[in-house]
Amino acid sequence: PTAAALDRAESLILSIPDYPEPGILFRDITPLLADAAGLRACIDALIEPFAGTFDVVAGVEARGFLLAGAIAVAADVGLVPIRKAGKLPRPAAAVSYTLEYATATIEAHDIVDGTRVLLVDDVLATGGTIAAAHELVDALGGVVVGTAVLMELDALGGRAVLGGMPVTALFHA
Ligand code: AMP
Repeated sequence: PTAAALDRAESLILSIPDYPEPGILFRDITPLLADAAGLRACIDALIEPFAGTFDVVAGVEARGFLLAGAIAVAADVGLVPIRKAGKLPRPAAAVSYTLEYATATIEAHDIVDGTRVLLVDDVLATGGTIAAAHELVDALGGVVVGTAVLMELDALGGRAVLGGMPVTALFHA
């Protein structure tokens, strides 16, 4: 995709103050998803650095699913949903992690020994979610090749907690 196409795509992401709680500036990607050219540009740009290096793309519930579906078809790879606890009928592994004021558990299956996995989500904030997803893939015997996100919130230091994993972020805030 051209720089102009990506600039236009970035302009479609809305910043909503105080959602879902006071003090949070929520990055709403839904207008970008609704725009054919913007979505195409972003999907192509997310795949580009990792093309040919992964067997499946794993999206984190829920907005990661949307990107993972598009990436899987465009990159001709499989798709694995990383789900919140209790949603999968035969979870093979589970990892719990700490959020700002709660804990969360994620689960997955259908990753086997040696499966090369690209992790994907909409926003990288503190990195806790992607770090947990990495742990989950490790527990299943898969190999994380990297993480692709639309937007990285630089000030929250997520990249640093991912221990040198290759991270592609199309946009920064
Ligand atoms: P973290 O684990 O802190 O990196 O948070 C990442 C997860 O929370 C992702 O699944 C994001 O969808 C969501 N998230 C965190 N902060 C924001 C934000 N400011 N706007 C939209 N989503 C966010």
